[in-house]
Amino acid sequence: MSAPTGKAETFAGPTLGILGGGQLAQMLALAALPLGVRVRVLEPDPQAPARLCADHLQAPYTDPAGLDALAECDAVTLEFENVPVAALDALSGRVPVRPGGELLARSKHRAREKAALRAAGVQTAPFVAVETEADLDGALERVGGRGILKTSELGYDGKGQARVSTQGELAEAWAALGRVSCVLEGLVAFEREVSLSVARTAGGELAFGPLIENVHRDGILRTSVYPVAVPESTGPEDTEARAREAARAIAEAWGLEGLLTVEFFLLPGGTLLANEVAPRVHNSGHLTQDGGGLSQFEAQVRAVLGLPLADWRPLLPCAMVNVVGVKGREPQWAAIDALPGTHVHLYHKAPRAGRKLGHVNVVAPDLGTLRERVARLEELIP
Ligand code: AMP
Repeated sequence: MSAPTGKAETFAGPTLGILGGGQLAQMLALAALPLGVRVRVLEPDPQAPARLCADHLQAPYTDPAGLDALAECDAVTLEFENVPVAALDALSGRVPVRPGGELLARSKHRAREKAALRAAGVQTAPFVAVETEADLDGALERVGGRGILKTSELGYDGKGQARVSTQGELAEAWAALGRVSCVLEGLVAFEREVSLSVARTAGGELAFGPLIENVHRDGILRTSVYPVAVPESTGPEDTEARAREAARAIAEAWGLEGLLTVEFFLLPGGTLLANEVAPRVHNSGHLTQDGGGLSQFEAQVRAVLGLPLADWRPLLPCAMVNVVGVKGREPQWAAIDALPGTHVHLYHKAPRAGRKLGHVNVVAPDLGTLRERVARLEELIP
């Protein structure tokens, strides 16, 4: 591991440590720097996106010297939930870790997460935890006859999941997933997918991000839009208020310090079911970088360091389209640049099919113009 320069010579501002050095850490660092905050990331990948704008401690997440260097920071946060809880436990008591190990342990294990959502009074899809062969008996009926089997840990972007509608398919899917701890969820006929972030300071003050609509393609987020076009019957304000209430309940019941994001299914009648909690900024919130308000990245930095923070919300309609690697195809960059209101964000990663390489935000004076620009962007980005 290369030695960090420490809290630099003449530098008097706070230093933020981050477990993980991917694109979210890169964008957290880019938001932290103008606030007078330096960033140090612990990340084993030598090519990690954050290496270009933060001190890069290149070592495993549980490396003692790496953790010692993070412990010198004013606070530590995370950008990715597949960090071992042991790394957070090793930092506990030495430096404020926000969010902490208990919250991470919950959010990185789907079965525990769903149970903890219910315990916080937040509705979820019907689910059954699958730990052993015996748990498969009757599981499908209990979730409504059709379901999605998901690994409890290490799944992301639709990986580690299988749709099942018969007992045979369920048994096969569980075997294919390696008979590991899983959760079987009832298949939800949602109308839309939405997300909302909440930040909570160590003193218990809350601030909220905007309600954002998300469209996935092949299990990966394709497009996010603000504001959400919710049906007349449910009303956008009402839906947002209920999403905020659920996020508040989770933040308080789980003792959040820092920022978390809740992904919801919005059902035709307006009911919100929480699907997943990410203990951090979220891909859907990237549009806040260019909507004219505070970005989700600055919100996480502020919440973790205890800097003043109010609700963060774009001032203009805005959207994001992800740039995901597609073999043999490139986005049409010149046309993207020529489209009014676009902002390109690249992660400095080697291209690979299915890999998130960047995103393009677009902003517009009104929702109609935004929709036209998003449609055009989706043609320009394979
Ligand atoms: P997840 O990894 O849980 O975020 O799932 C990836 C995507 O699969 C979600 O964004 C949904 O589009 C879809 N999905 C996940 N769970 C369900 C469910 N219980 N019912 C219907 N669709 C689902």
